[in-house]
Amino acid sequence: MTELNFLCTKCRREFDCDVGKISFPIEENRPRFEKEIVCPRCGIITMDEVELTELGQTQLGAVFMTELE
Ligand SMILES: [Zn+2]
Repeated sequence: MTELNFLCTKCRREFDCDVGKISFPIEENRPRFEKEIVCPRCGIITMDEVELTELGQTQLGAVFMTELE
C-alpha cells in the first residue's frame, strides 16, 4: 500500500490516499495507480481533478527511486 498526499482541486482539500501499486509507463507522462483516487469529500476523482502536494511529490519520487533499483 502506498499513500500519497493529494490536493483536490474541486474542494481544495488535502488528503492522503492509498493508491496501491504505482507504475511508471514510459509512454505516458504520468504515473499509473492501481487504485482509484478517493477524495474524502468528493468521492472517486480523476487525476485531472487532483494535484500532488509537495509532500505527495516527495512520496512519489521515493517510490520512483525504489522502482529503479
Ligand atoms: Zn474534493
